[in-house]
Amino acid sequence: MNDGGVRGAVEALVGTDLSVADHTDLADASRAVARLQSFVDHAKVQIARRGRQLGDEGDTSSAHTLIDEGRCTGTDVKSTNGRDRVCGDLPDFEAALASGAVTGAHLDALAHHTKSLTDAERSDLAALSDELVADAVDQPPALFDRTVKGRIDAIRNQHRPDSDAEMLDRQRAASCVKRWTDRDTGMKNTMLSLDPLRDASLWNVIDHHLARLRSDVANAELPFGQLQVEAVLASVTTSSGGRRIPEIVAHVDHRSLCHGRHAHTLAETADGTALPVPTVQRLCCEALIQAVIVQPDGTVDQLCAEQRTASRQQRRMLEAMHSTCAHPHCEVSFTACRIHHVTWWTKGGTTVLANLLPLCETHHHLVHEGGWSLDIDERRAVTWLRPDGSVWLTDAGPNRTAADRAGRATRASCDRSERPPGRPPPADARSESDDDGKHAGPRSTKRRYAEQPNLL
Ligand SMILES: [Zn+2]
Ligand SMILES: [Zn+2]
Repeated sequence: MNDGGVRGAVEALVGTDLSVADHTDLADASRAVARLQSFVDHAKVQIARRGRQLGDEGDTSSAHTLIDEGRCTGTDVKSTNGRDRVCGDLPDFEAALASGAVTGAHLDALAHHTKSLTDAERSDLAALSDELVADAVDQPPALFDRTVKGRIDAIRNQHRPDSDAEMLDRQRAASCVKRWTDRDTGMKNTMLSLDPLRDASLWNVIDHHLARLRSDVANAELPFGQLQVEAVLASVTTSSGGRRIPEIVAHVDHRSLCHGRHAHTLAETADGTALPVPTVQRLCCEALIQAVIVQPDGTVDQLCAEQRTASRQQRRMLEAMHSTCAHPHCEVSFTACRIHHVTWWTKGGTTVLANLLPLCETHHHLVHEGGWSLDIDERRAVTWLRPDGSVWLTDAGPNRTAADRAGRATRASCDRSERPPGRPPPADARSESDDDGKHAGPRSTKRRYAEQPNLL
């Protein structure tokens, strides 16, 4: 086994009395510990690998030596196996670990983020091996974890451009509320588990109330924890007094907004949580958009804003024409709808009545994330186009009057053989026709919408 300074590190530690060490001694000792840590991490990987080989050859007792003899927990063994997988995919990292240039924690970051990569994505990552090792040598594990995530997100988005939208769909479907009473304390607990988008939206309102409560001198003595409780309660019980609180603040670069994701896309919430570009485009449909000119050094000195929310008058006029969502089979009332820009802002659409249409949350999602598109003529007849650009149907225009509603019902019953889905299918859903029992790999949100027109 390569020494690579290991003996020196042991001698340095054995020969130092740490109880009387000064700063220089502590720094030397810490470096020696890091060297030994890499050595031990590498030795564990080698033990696990060899134990597996012996196990495959029939010596089952060797497969568990790390637990049986090495006093490792199951979690230790799991992370060691992850590191071994990384060494297999990126042999340069095994060499770097053996020489003490990186630690096991660097390999853990890679193991964590590469778990769900396809073979093609893995080979793209392997091509970046030199750069990744250089990053790991320069960066502490926590920073390296972010670097790896950024690089892997870029690779995944090249191969699977809709993967981030799918992830958000899954997180949205997994969101839940739980409520229980603690038997010992009698305290009432409520746990909210939310996707990042709705979490950002909720906390925007809570932070708004928190700022208001903090600025009130009457609350000067209240601990921060209590103020936070008051802010959460205020966000569900108080109206904003007609004042609009932004639902979410998203940062996106102009090129991504207009042309989709690219290698240096910025699309995230204010706290840095990544968002799918089509989702940010949907948010921009009804938003205050602020364009910020960022200088090459990252500083900002110009800001211009554009209001993209329909005016009160425009909403009144739309409400007079549409009693519900404009989707021909949808009964969601106008008041629960978003105002969609038929021609998107990024494609030159403006906030004028002729370009606005009410869509419920689900059908707004269908149009932006699902790849369907709309066309509206001067009589406000709306043409729905499938993701492949073919026409699904053209409706008869506004649906507020009784005659329109009757026509709409007839149309709806005629067209039920094929219609856009009402909601995204669950991530693991398979179409009825998919009866050969095989899953043809992950499907994009757009493809799932296109393939499963009869959902709902
Ligand atoms: Zn929209
Ligand atoms: Zn709808």
